[in-house]
Amino acid sequence: MHLWRREIWRLVLLAGGGALAGAFLSLPALGLAVGLGLCLAHHLRQLRSLHRWLTQRPQTTPPDSSGLWGELFDRLYRYQKGQSLIQGRLRSILQRIQESSEAMRDSVVMLDRHGNLEWWNSAAGQMLGLKVANDRGQHVTNLIRDPRFISYFKARDYGAPLTLPSPIDERRVLQFQITLYGDDERLLMARDITRLHRLEQMRRDFVANVSHELRTPLTVLAGYLETYTDHSDQLPPRLSRGLGQMQEQTTRMQNLVDDLLLLSRLEIDQAGEDHIPLAMDSLLKSVRLDAETLSGGRQTIRVDILDHRALSGSEQEIRSALSNLAFNAVRYTQAGSHITLRWRPHPQGACLEVEDDGEGIDPVHIPRLTERFYRVDKGRSTATGGTGLGLAIVKHVLLRHEARLEIHSRPGEGARFRCIFPRGQLVTEDTETSDIPRP
Ligand code: ADP
Repeated sequence: MHLWRREIWRLVLLAGGGALAGAFLSLPALGLAVGLGLCLAHHLRQLRSLHRWLTQRPQTTPPDSSGLWGELFDRLYRYQKGQSLIQGRLRSILQRIQESSEAMRDSVVMLDRHGNLEWWNSAAGQMLGLKVANDRGQHVTNLIRDPRFISYFKARDYGAPLTLPSPIDERRVLQFQITLYGDDERLLMARDITRLHRLEQMRRDFVANVSHELRTPLTVLAGYLETYTDHSDQLPPRLSRGLGQMQEQTTRMQNLVDDLLLLSRLEIDQAGEDHIPLAMDSLLKSVRLDAETLSGGRQTIRVDILDHRALSGSEQEIRSALSNLAFNAVRYTQAGSHITLRWRPHPQGACLEVEDDGEGIDPVHIPRLTERFYRVDKGRSTATGGTGLGLAIVKHVLLRHEARLEIHSRPGEGARFRCIFPRGQLVTEDTETSDIPRP
């Protein structure tokens, strides 16, 4: 305030002094104009110093000045020093981040809000073949052209990672993960999982080969056991009891081998090749007949069709998933229970549902039910002919149809298994129903 007052006094004195001096010469207006002109000249000089300082040597100390202008120069100088301190700190943080990203073995690529490449570490250069000279500013999908990556990038649903062969070396397998941050910018990370992928493949092949190799000896054993059981009246009772148990266990092993082979096929085979529009009413009715045979009249089984759209999928796989759910409902509910197989609309598409009013499942088990060989009650599962692989098969089938499994249950309140299929897996009304095979 004090500085402002001095400036105003300066103006008043110059203007007043000028007018007074002019009045002596009978030219007060000219005197006033000269006074104001002197004042203006002073401010213009200061303004020129400020302009020169800011444009020519902003890093140096400000020009000498007093009064309001001196205060302004001082404040600007202090602000500038503060800013360059912050800038320096930010620069060193950025450098440290870049150095640590450089040291990482995983690829890190920063993309701007349009998906153009801004910065990447050297691992990204080697793994994805990015070159500083040519690729900066390029759109990421021009460099990683795999259609699976393009649709992953565009979908903006980055909850799960994407596994693909490296764009520069087919033999290497990379796992891509994108994170959205800041102003719609994206951070793309890629990990080389070739070794893990190979181990996983070896595990799959091993299970598939062992299961396949076990099939023939088991068939021979089952064949002989059947022949001997047919003549059990000629055998001592102790032997024929043993034979019965051997036959039971052989059947269990055969079921296990069949389920293991089916799971291996679901993991290895390319999904989508045998997808056709499926008429859900006849599929559900046909599975009901099988479930009724298993139930032997102990439960009531109903089919409820509330959606008339067909599902585009593999007939064999969907039938297997639905049968597993329906057979579980028969095996894990007491006599007199009600089971419903339902096909109905869902906000995300459509839902295939198997509901029962049996004993239900304790919620602590639900997150683990689809794990291989996870059983709530091992003794009961074995006694009812379960292999422990049923829900794992259901989960895999659904994954191959872009669908997901939801399990709702409480002890004493029955269980509801929902397979939710996205709209993209449904066949719209205009599809000729005559194309749809009746199972
Ligand atoms: P399993 O061959 O043992 O049936 P699954 O993977 O098909 O293997 O099922 C896993 C477990 O989930 C079963 O052991 C059973 O305890 C439980 N379960 C599945 N369906 C039902 C159901 N409808 N009601 C109650 N429990 C169920």
